[in-house]
This record gives sequence, C-alpha cells and structure tokens, in this order.
Amino acid sequence: MDMKIDAAKVEHMLDEAGGADKQRLDSILDRAESFKGLSPEDVAALLTTDSGPHIERMFKIAGSIKEEIYGERIVMFAPLYVSDYCVNKCRYCGFSCDNKFSRRRLSMDEIKAEAEILERMGHKRLAVEAGEDPVNCPIDYILDAIKTIYSMKADTGEIRRVNVNIAATTGDNYKKLRDVGIGTYILFQETYHEPTYSELHESGPKKDFDYHLTSFDRAMRSGIDDVGGGVLFGLYDWRFEVLGLMLHNRHLDETYGAGFHTISMPRLCPAEGMDMSSYRILSDEDFKRVVATVRIAVPYTGMIISTRESPAMRKELIKLGISQISGGSSVEVGGYAARQAGGEQFELADGRPAIDVLRWLMDESLVPSFCTACYRKGRTGDRFMSLAKSGNIKNVCLPNALMTLCEYMMDYGDDAFRNQAGALIEKNIPKIKNEKMRELTKGSIKRIKNGERDLYV
Ligand code: SF4
Ligand code: SF4
Repeated sequence: MDMKIDAAKVEHMLDEAGGADKQRLDSILDRAESFKGLSPEDVAALLTTDSGPHIERMFKIAGSIKEEIYGERIVMFAPLYVSDYCVNKCRYCGFSCDNKFSRRRLSMDEIKAEAEILERMGHKRLAVEAGEDPVNCPIDYILDAIKTIYSMKADTGEIRRVNVNIAATTGDNYKKLRDVGIGTYILFQETYHEPTYSELHESGPKKDFDYHLTSFDRAMRSGIDDVGGGVLFGLYDWRFEVLGLMLHNRHLDETYGAGFHTISMPRLCPAEGMDMSSYRILSDEDFKRVVATVRIAVPYTGMIISTRESPAMRKELIKLGISQISGGSSVEVGGYAARQAGGEQFELADGRPAIDVLRWLMDESLVPSFCTACYRKGRTGDRFMSLAKSGNIKNVCLPNALMTLCEYMMDYGDDAFRNQAGALIEKNIPKIKNEKMRELTKGSIKRIKNGERDLYV
C-alpha cells in the first residue's frame, strides 16, 4: 500500500501524546540511549513535552549519538542547479511560475563547465536540482545531464555520486533514473499537512498532494534503493512535520525494508517581499530541538543542512547530529561559472568558498569527508540499513573520510591546508578501532600521497 497521511489523525496523535508524564518520558529517553531509534508514538511524546529537564536530556542524547555513530566526519556535497523552468505555482519559492524572470536551462557544454568547476573545488558528490517543466526540462534532459556529469573528469577530479532532486514523476521515469546510476533520489514533501499543502501549491502538477506523497513508493518499486526526504520547516507546525517525517519513514521501512537514507532540514527564512505572516517561522531553539529529535528518532539516517543556515547555526546543528553539509554552493542555474566570471555573488547565509568551509570544519576538529563508498560498494537500500542499524557502518566512515580528505589535500590544498589536514588525519587514525582497518587506512593514505586516487572501503 502507498503512503497516506491523514492530517486529523496526526493532530490527534500529537494531542494524545501531549503532557506525557515523567515516567513515560524517562522510559522513552532510556530507550533512545541505546541508539536503536524511536517509534512515531515516542517521537510524538517528545515533540509535545515542555519538560525542560527532558528536553535538555534529548539534546545530550543527540550529541552522544552524533559522537558515537558519526564521530568527527562530515560529508560534503554541492548542489548543481541545471534548470529553473517551472510550471508550478508554489507560494514560498522564487522559481514559482508566476515570478517573471528570464529562465534558462544549461546546455550539456554548460553542465560540463559547471561540473568541471565543482571538481576543481574538490567535490565528489553532487545533488542535481531542477524545477518541474516537462517541455523545457524533460526527463531525457535530466538523464543526459547526469551522464554528462559522470563522464566529466577534470585532471584527478571526478563526480562519483550524483544525487537527484527533481519533481515527483512516474515509475518509468524512476527506472530511467535508476538505470543511469543515481545515488539518492531526493524529494521534499514541503509540508505533510494537506490543507496547508493545498493552500501553498496554487497550481501545476505539484498541487496533487497524493501523487507527491507517493513518489517514494513509485521510486522504490522501480528499483531506486536510496531515497531522501525533507520538509520545508516553517510552512506548518514543526511538531506536525517531524511526526509526518517519522510516519513516512516507518511506512518506507515496513514496506520496502529501508527508511529514508537522508533527511534534509531546510528552514524557511524571512526574505524580502515575502508575506511572512502566513508562515510559522521556527526560532533557533525550536530548530535545534527538531534536529535533536530527528537524530535520536532515526540515529542512522543521514541529516543534511544547506548553506541557508549561518556558520554559527551550522556549528550548533552539527553537534546535534547533522552529518552532511554543502559548501561553496551556488543556488543559481549556471551559478558556478557566473561566480568564476565575477558575476554572481554569494547570497547565502553561509557563502564561504568550499575550502574555507573545510578549514572551518577542521578548526572545529571535524573531518570533512568526500566519501561516496557505500553506493559504489553496493551498500544501498536495505543492505545499507542493516549495516547502519547494527552500528557497523562507522567502521568504514572514518577510514573513508580520512582517505578522501588526504586526496583533497594533495589535489587542492595549499601548504597551510596540507599541514592542517595532515595533522588531523594523523590524529584520527588511532581512533579507527579495528586494527586491520587502521593498518589498511595507513597504507592507503601512503598510497594516496604517492599519487594513487579513489581508494575506499
Ligand atoms: Fe519551486 Fe519546486 Fe515549486 Fe517549482 S516545484 S516553484 S522549483 S518549489
Ligand atoms: Fe556515507 Fe557510506 Fe561513506 Fe559512511 S562509508 S560516509 S555511510 S558513503
């Protein structure tokens, strides 16, 4: 059966869970400490409590999950916007079809140029982004774009994993995406609250709530193993949205054997010209609580934040369990080439160049990782999830992080960067618990320094 969500039932679940007593909250948090995740019912209780000590404890548990499971590694990615044509009228988005501006989609040569710039920034993992327009941006164009990106090599640089964030589509189109070797298929539900969804999506195919909600069912039935969900926090009540995500995750897990591979955490930020009175903007404190709740509810699901958040907020959120961030991003079609030509300016909350984001992470003793190993080793879908849930995935994450950081420093770092990254790698090698893996990593680091590339476990 496909995913369904009944707004009244979710509201009822939150009402029922509200005011859970100390004993119930203690028991939920005791279970959360075993890092096995929580049921949507448990999550509802945590979302609705106003017990300060329990909220405090949630933050602590989220922090310890982050340390225990993810350690110091943070996976890096970059978005690549290929087309801003869109036939939908979504009130909260600049690409909405009623916004009049000159739209474009990149030619394959322009895509090559963008991919080359990203490769020369050291990126190995991209998210291809496009608005929905079957005429100006059909599926064949997206497939060609993905093939073009995979074929592009700038010296030792290459994109090894292309994730895709495009509109809900048919099972046949998902099969085509699977066949060109996408990593994760990402689609934001935007809001799980159907009345709000209907109000904000004024026209276009995206207006069909059920079709949008059941996209991952079609994708998974078509052989796409890894799917990534998300909502745009601020469109509706955050408690409802987190519970919606958890119910969706449970549906995918029970039906296909694997829940979300990643959950993206974009937050609506006030922007000029936007009537913010109809939105429910989250405070920083509530947003931290959202991140902590999701972290303890699904400890093995990757959590992503974008450059929408400021460096200070990113730092706080990483401590609570964010495992993937973008760096040096452009959210414009053709933005990387335009920036190189001196045109587009960074307009994001975190607009630092990628290398500065890496330096900053390393200053915080975090290990930037360009790892794409799981997908290339066939660790996807239920195979990934069983490894993740058993806790064994961390045995490969740190070695891969260190190897890919070493590759980055050799290819793109200046002397200062190499010194900093080299010291960080040395400091982290002893943290690899398995002796065989530790020795293998040491050997691989040596080989990378001697010119070999693309080593992974
Ligand atoms: Fe923006 Fe996506 Fe809506 Fe198009 S479908 S207007 S790109 S949110
Ligand atoms: Fe992600 Fe797998 Fe690499 Fe770990 S080993 S960082 S889970 S791709």
